[in-house]
Order: sequence, then C-alpha cells, then structure tokens
Amino acid sequence: MIRRFLSYYKPHKRLFIVDFTAAVIVAILELAFPVAVQWFIDDLLRGDDWNIIVTVGVLLLLVYIVSTYLQYVVTYIGHKLGVNIETDMRKDLFHHVQKQSFRFFDNTKTGHIMSRITTDLFDLGELAHHGPEDFFISIMTFLGAFAIMFTINPVLASVILIAIPILIFLITFGNIRMNKSWKTMYENIAGVNARVEDAVSGVRVVQSFTNEKFEMERFGVDNNHFRKAKIGAYKTMAVVHSNIYLLMRLITLVVLVAGAWLTFNGRLSYGELVSFILFVNVLTTPINKITALLEMYPKGMAGFKRFTELMDVAPDVRDKDNAVSIENLQGDIAFHNVTFGYEDTQKPVLNNISFDIHAGETVAFVGPSGAGKTTISSLIPRFYDVNEGSIRIDGIDIRDMKKDSLRRQIGVVQQDVFLFTGTLRENIAYGKLDATDEEIELAARRAHMEGFIRELPNGYETQVGERGLKLSGGQKQRIAIARMFLKNPPILILDEATSALDTETEMIIQQALNELAKDRTTLVIAHRLATIKNADRIMVVTKNGIEEEGSHDELIKQDGLFAHLHNVQMN
Ligand code: ADP
Ligand code: MG
Repeated sequence: MIRRFLSYYKPHKRLFIVDFTAAVIVAILELAFPVAVQWFIDDLLRGDDWNIIVTVGVLLLLVYIVSTYLQYVVTYIGHKLGVNIETDMRKDLFHHVQKQSFRFFDNTKTGHIMSRITTDLFDLGELAHHGPEDFFISIMTFLGAFAIMFTINPVLASVILIAIPILIFLITFGNIRMNKSWKTMYENIAGVNARVEDAVSGVRVVQSFTNEKFEMERFGVDNNHFRKAKIGAYKTMAVVHSNIYLLMRLITLVVLVAGAWLTFNGRLSYGELVSFILFVNVLTTPINKITALLEMYPKGMAGFKRFTELMDVAPDVRDKDNAVSIENLQGDIAFHNVTFGYEDTQKPVLNNISFDIHAGETVAFVGPSGAGKTTISSLIPRFYDVNEGSIRIDGIDIRDMKKDSLRRQIGVVQQDVFLFTGTLRENIAYGKLDATDEEIELAARRAHMEGFIRELPNGYETQVGERGLKLSGGQKQRIAIARMFLKNPPILILDEATSALDTETEMIIQQALNELAKDRTTLVIAHRLATIKNADRIMVVTKNGIEEEGSHDELIKQDGLFAHLHNVQMN
C-alpha cells in the first residue's frame, strides 16, 4: 500500500528533493536558536565579551533570513508536489473508470464514483506533501534536540524519556480510532453524493410528486451518518491533542523544577537551564507535527485505500493479449448457441440462441418487452461478454478482436439519446471528433435536421442544456442519427429508436433511418410493426428464444405470434 503510494512521487522526484532538503535545513536551523540563546545568556552573565553578543545577533539574523526563504520553499514547493500527486491519481482513476464495462456501471452508483475521484483524493495531496516530510523531520528534530539536551545534562534529559512511551501510546490509540472514523466518513460522504446525484438528476420527478420532504429525509439520514463519523474523528483528535498538551506542560514543569534544583547545586548554568527549557519548547514542534500527521495520515490513507479499491477492479470485458485490430468489416453477424445472463446466479436472459445476419441485410427483432432484444444488441459491441457460445463477425470471434476496433464499426441508436452539455454542433460532432463543418452540416441534412436548426436563434451553436433537456425527443433522435452518418459504421443497431416519438415525427425520422441503413448490416428493434415492413427478415424474440423467423409476408401467412401481434396493432 505505502509502496504504491510512494510510486506516485516518481514523476515529481525533483520537487520532492527540493522540498525535503529545504525542510531538513529548516529543522536543523530550529535547533540553532536555543544553542545561541545559551551562549548569549552565559556570556551576558560573565559580562565580559561584547564580541560574542554581536556575533550571536548577526548569526541569528542570518538564520532567520535563510529560514524564512526555506519556509517559503517548503510551503510552496511542498504543496505543489502534493497537488501534482493528487492530480495524477485523479487522472489515473478517471482513466480507469472509463475502461470499466457496462456491468460495472450497472452495479455502481454514480455518486460513489464521483466521490472517489474527487473528495476522497482531497486529503491525499496534503498527505503526500506533509507525510514523508513531517515524519522524517519530526523524528530528526526530536532526536537532534534530545541529543543536544543529553550533552547539556544527561540527568535532566532522561526525565523527558519518560514521556516517550506515553506519547507512543497516545499516537497509536489515536491512529487506530481515526482510521475507522475516516473510513466511515468517506463511505458516508459517498452516500451523500449518491443521494444528491439521484435527487438532482431526478428533480423533475421529485417535484412533480411533491416528494421534496421525502428526499430531504433520505438525504438527512446519509448526511447525519457523515456528521457522526466526522465528529467521531474529531473527538479522538481532541482526546489525543489535549493529552499531548498536558504531557508537554508536565515535562516543562518537571524540567523547570529539577533544572532549578540542579542550578542551585551548581551543576547547571543559567544559560543551560534556559536553553533546556527552550529545547522542551522546540520539542513541541515535532510533536505537533506528528499529531497533525495523525489526523492526516489515516484520513489520506482511507482515501487512498478507496482509490486503490477502485483501481484494482479489472474491467470484465477486455482485450486478449493477442487480440487483432479489425478494419472494414463486411458485417456478417453470427450468433452460435449464445447463452447470457446479467448475473451469473440468475437464470439466463438468452438461452442457447443462434442466428445469422448477412452483410448488408436489415433484420428486425420484435417481441414482448423484456424478452431480451436489447440484450442481444448489447452483446454485439461486447458491452457484455457471452457466458456460453460465441458471436462471430465476418467469421471472427468478437472476443479475438480489439474491443475499440470492433466498436468503431458498430453504431447504436437508442430510444433515449444522451447529449452532452454543449452546442448542437459539438453534439453532432461526437460521432466523429475531427469532422469538418461541411461534414457536420451534411450529416445534419441527411438526418433531416435542417428545418429545426434553421428555426433555432443560434442554429448550430445552440446550447442543448444538460443531457439535451432543451431539445425535444425527435430533435435529439435526429442528432443521434446525424452522429451515425458521421461515424458511418458497417453495422448499425437501432434499438427502438423511434418508439418514443409521435407518428408524424416518426415518419420523418424513419426516412432518415432508411437512408442510414442503406449499404449496412442493420438490426432494427422495433415496437411498431409498421416501421419494419421493409426489413429483409424479421425475428420474433420471446423468453423462449427466437420463436419465428421470416419476411413480413411469410410471418403473416404462418399465422403465429407475429401475425397475432400484427392484428392487435392494426385494430
Ligand atoms: P427487451 O429489450 O426485449 O425489452 P431487455 O434485453 O432489455 O429486453 O431485457 C431482458 C431481461 O434482462 C429483462 O428481464 C431485464 O430485466 C433484464 N435486464 C436488462 N438489462 C439488465 C441489466 N443491465 N442488468 C440486469 N438485468 C437486466
Ligand atoms: Mg429493449
């Protein structure tokens, strides 16, 4: 775990060395002050040499100037280092999340992913900066101060030793308790995030049911868990802090009394006594740093643990080592005894399904909702992998192809189109990021978008709103089609692309879709049977698999399930 954390320092080695060196020098200079004061006082009491007083004064001034500059370096460079590391981790995690397969997103809340990428890493930057620095420097200052005190007076120095086991106990106690609290805190803030995500993206539903109060209460539960966990952590911190404070005061008291006694007996000079007391004070710096670390370390590490947990989730759909890159597919698709279930334990959604689709063919899938039509279409771009059997395109098992090369050749248009915040033009261009304006406008024309774009005040530059909420369903659907014209894949999947539209809009879009389907292998999943009249073949999918197969007229003649569905819709 720690080694993995440290590996993030590698690209920033130079910053680390500068920061660390500066911090070490600051720590050494800290030790100079009490020594200087000791000389100063003992000299004063002797009352002879002005020279040394001036020397000490000048020396201290120099030390302060150098320290000030180094403090700047430590604060700036150190935090820069921390922020860089935090950013790198965030980048790695985002990259990793993007590689995850659909199954991962089916089972993971968006809010949880968001908090892992954002809040969970906040404390890591601080830890990355203060962690090694404060740890080594505290130990160094502590040992340094102690060594000097020991040379001044071993007996008095030994008094301080008594404090060490108590300190260690307090720190271990705090560390264990805080570990738990911070872990719980992160889990709860993830819960809060998930609630916010749900309630905000569903706010239109919340308000139309006037369920604001219900949402408030649900939110309150998670928020309150968060509060408890965080307060718990601070309570532990308060216990540790106050006890360490007491410990340090007691040591000062003991040193003062015992030191005074030693001074009376002439075994300690006045300078040494003052210096000793100042050293006890110097000790508070590393101890405070260690206590601060006590907060930072478990907090940062709890975040880091959550980071590694997610980083270690391997995507379940991934390329084989010897996967081949496929270009220019013809579009022959063959399902061979395919069995697939979303969850292994469940009984499979698709059971031993086989069919062939020839290159250039348009095949329609119809059947009751929940039969598995969308599932069939999700298997072709490997959004999920089959449990048994195989899917071949142009005779090659799709699991032997590079996933990206496969997906580049398949276009999917669904019922609900996802638009990204941005302009209409940007959203069309999502089908081909380097498309020229001419290509974009041609695609828009072919998708029959011209009319409504002309009516928009800003035309192609119109902002579509979050998820495209400023556009109608038919408008969004045409953007999806325009994207496909740009992408121009040999295989096209239309999953109820027009099911949500009114008949008139559907007719306009149907024309665009017919044009899009030309010269490609096309799978059409449709509800309204009228829209698939021209399909080369129709497959009727039910829970039992593919029940009927044939052309429109053949199926009507068969007088089976399709003919029945057809009659229901026509009347
Ligand atoms: P259709 O498109 O024919 O209406 P689907 O392929 O969407 O049907 O769904 C088939 C079955 O698989 C349904 O019982 C549905 O509940 C289930 N299902 C669909 N998507 C998922 C998913 N992501 N996770 C788990 N089960 C799913
Ligand atoms: Mg479906």
